[in-house]
Amino acid sequence: MATLYYEKDADPSLIAGRKVAIIGYGSQGHAHARNLSESGVDVRVGLREGSSSAAKAAEAGLRVVSVDQAAEEADLIMLLLPDTEQASVYEASIAPHLQAGDAIFFAHGFNIRFGLITPPDGVDVAMVAPKGPGHLVRRTYTEGGGVPSLIAVAADPSGRAHDLALSYAHAIGATRAGVLDTTFEEETETDLFGEQVVLCGGLTALVQAGFETLVGAGYQPESAYFECLHELKLIVDLMYEQGIAGMRFSISDTAEYGDLTRGPRVINQAVRDEMSRILAEIRDGRFAEEWVAENRNGRPNYTRLREEGLAHPIEKVGAELRAMMPFIGAGKERIQDVSGG
Ligand code: NAD
Ligand code: MG
Repeated sequence: MATLYYEKDADPSLIAGRKVAIIGYGSQGHAHARNLSESGVDVRVGLREGSSSAAKAAEAGLRVVSVDQAAEEADLIMLLLPDTEQASVYEASIAPHLQAGDAIFFAHGFNIRFGLITPPDGVDVAMVAPKGPGHLVRRTYTEGGGVPSLIAVAADPSGRAHDLALSYAHAIGATRAGVLDTTFEEETETDLFGEQVVLCGGLTALVQAGFETLVGAGYQPESAYFECLHELKLIVDLMYEQGIAGMRFSISDTAEYGDLTRGPRVINQAVRDEMSRILAEIRDGRFAEEWVAENRNGRPNYTRLREEGLAHPIEKVGAELRAMMPFIGAGKERIQDVSGG
């Protein structure tokens, strides 16, 4: 089993002895800044001129300065901008202020793993990556809990980068839930693979294809929606709580026999081979290169594919059916409130 770190394993004095800059005040930024501040850490928030988040951060009692000033004042800089924006902001406003003895932190390994940001020698480079959205990092902290997090070190000239990352993780509440060592490579590659193949890409394509197959065979779109999308939550909740075995225990024998005999025909060898090719594109940098170029070109494919997704018939029938089940969206407002992003 991997080593997990909890509260007793962290040294809170390490982060307490640093001047921390949180760059960005979105999903993760607001949560890290507020949790660190309430844990007694010296925090300033670095935002660009005219940022709409400045008022929210100030309202939360945080000191807001420019990105340049935050990077200059601080000796630990956490970059919580969108991954595609980080490299240009780093070059313009952070790199000029980095000195030996400073630390630069990330919440995802993308920019370091793919060489888009290369911090200078003498600077600790580490990651504290909560395994949950920022509003949960904030909410669980206020409730006395935390979100499990990964930590990693890419450069350790001080010899204390790992303990500093653990101390930071502690101050945002993560050691209450469990902190796990990883590497920038493992975190970045598994994160991209998971979202492309299973969690987002694989799942949405599976749901749409199942829906299209039923509707194409003449069944009502409403039935297809309930079967292929709505019921997913019940199944996923069971898997989340009890694993695949526990989910199978709860479904009927007929459903389970269909699962065991038909599942491997859907996710067959051709699909597995495609999964391996997708992983290879992640590891050799082709995906990162494509995504960086897509952003540089103004996101034409992204925009077109997103619009095609919005126009899919499952969205229309789903919107109609969900409007009749207002209880489904009941938690949503609260999430927007808390995230502030
Ligand atoms: P976000 O989009 O919610 O927030 C980004 C913030 O940066 C916003 O305040 C935005 O106004 C600001 N910003 C954007 N461009 C800027 C620029 N050019 N200059 C200055 N400020 C700018 O981002 P996020 O989801 O919090 O992601 C931040 C980091 O956390 C990323 O590395 C991401 O991979 C990582 N992460 C996110 C989550 C998540 O659930 N959202 C989970 C774990 C890790
Ligand atoms: Mg992820």
